[in-house]
Amino acid sequence: MFENLTEKLQRAFKHLRGQGTLTEENIQEAMREIRVALLEADVNLNVVKELIDHIRDKAVGAEVMTALSPSEQVIKIVRDELIALLGKDTARFKFAPQPPTVILMAGLQGSGKTTTTGKLAAWLKKGGHRPILVSVDVYRPAAREQLKVVAKSIDAKIYEGDLKGEQPGSKLVERLANEARREARNFGFDTLIVDTAGRLHVDEELMTEMEQLKKLLNPQEILFVADAMTGQDAVNSAQDFHKRLGLTGVVLTKMDGDARGGAALSIRHVTGQPIKFIGTGEKPDAFEPFHPDRIVGRILGMGDILSLVEKAEATLDKKKSEEFAKKALLGDGFTLEDFRDQLKQIKKLGSMESILKMLPSVGPFAGMQQAASQVDEKQFVRLEAMINSMTPHERRNHDIISGSRRKRIAAGSGTSVQEVNQLLRQYAQMAKMFKSMGKGGLAKQMMRGGM
Ligand code: GDP
Repeated sequence: MFENLTEKLQRAFKHLRGQGTLTEENIQEAMREIRVALLEADVNLNVVKELIDHIRDKAVGAEVMTALSPSEQVIKIVRDELIALLGKDTARFKFAPQPPTVILMAGLQGSGKTTTTGKLAAWLKKGGHRPILVSVDVYRPAAREQLKVVAKSIDAKIYEGDLKGEQPGSKLVERLANEARREARNFGFDTLIVDTAGRLHVDEELMTEMEQLKKLLNPQEILFVADAMTGQDAVNSAQDFHKRLGLTGVVLTKMDGDARGGAALSIRHVTGQPIKFIGTGEKPDAFEPFHPDRIVGRILGMGDILSLVEKAEATLDKKKSEEFAKKALLGDGFTLEDFRDQLKQIKKLGSMESILKMLPSVGPFAGMQQAASQVDEKQFVRLEAMINSMTPHERRNHDIISGSRRKRIAAGSGTSVQEVNQLLRQYAQMAKMFKSMGKGGLAKQMMRGGM
């Protein structure tokens, strides 16, 4: 998968790795090579431009992580940005609150739509679902026959229906779709997958038919099946389909072939819709949910460095929490810098509310909850800005932050003196709480708090 791109990116990194320290010229050169690699992989021009801008900004202003060398740090930035480009998390498949869940398969002829319909059914079956398939391609008997063969191979139920010699057209399509849905309801199938007619090109008739099907079936998922080998053509047709239908996701097929990577890396950015699955072969089980981090790992193709990067991230977090725990346990030296670190860690963990819910509301955490609940999540940025506007000396000795210093901090962070006052109050509250716990006291108080 994406061998060429992998090779080119590795070459760019190799040049960096030869350097002891990174200069702006090194970084520029690496960015140039990465840019060429992406363009040669047929990645959309705008996507390349934005990606390179992000990577360059981050590489130049990168915080030094002692666990990584400068070049490894650039690799980490590239990895993070690629993952972000692909949507970060694995996109979820949507089920209807009331079965049957309806999935409309869209795509051009030859993209792998019928094969994917079968693969999806097999995947659902494996997950304990009861899918039923229907082909509404009333124009090509061979297409309907193909789905029948596919369904048989995975032992899935298909609604064949009777065309009754009716003229092919949207009326017949709608009748079949309606009947299939009724069949699903009557016989307890929880998912209905509708394989639709394909065309060689996007045309008006096809789009109108798809729109009618959408209106009729109100599907939870409209998946666009795209052949990864066709690069930007796949991206363009995905965009056309999305404009008319509002896709909910993309399935990229033929990822086992020598696709260059352009479709995979562009389609989400261009359409705004995530890749939900990939097809990796002709067999029914050559199909998997799309995990951005794993794909990026494969694209970068450097297992050793990537695991180092992950380890560095984990140890960094661990070290910070250990330091914090030590300070909290000993009840000393909880500075505004620690406060800022804690805010960052909490931000990483998830929403404030979800964390608060995990804490007992009595005992020592009552104070913590109160202090924390005053911290609106949108305020995080402002709090950080205020602490950043302090001098290191002030951060370690909050007592010296006088009225004039508060004014300066407010001006420097674009906030108000009132907000600075409030921050200092919150901080003092937390520091006092930690102090009152005293040496070894935290454990005892936790027990009292029922933890
Ligand atoms: P449709 O016209 O969109 O329904 O496409 P088909 O399902 O008939 O697939 C077209 C061809 O692509 C068939 O030969 C499939 O076996 C092949 N195909 C589909 N998905 C994949 C895949 O993920 N990998 C490979 N190698 N071939 C695939």
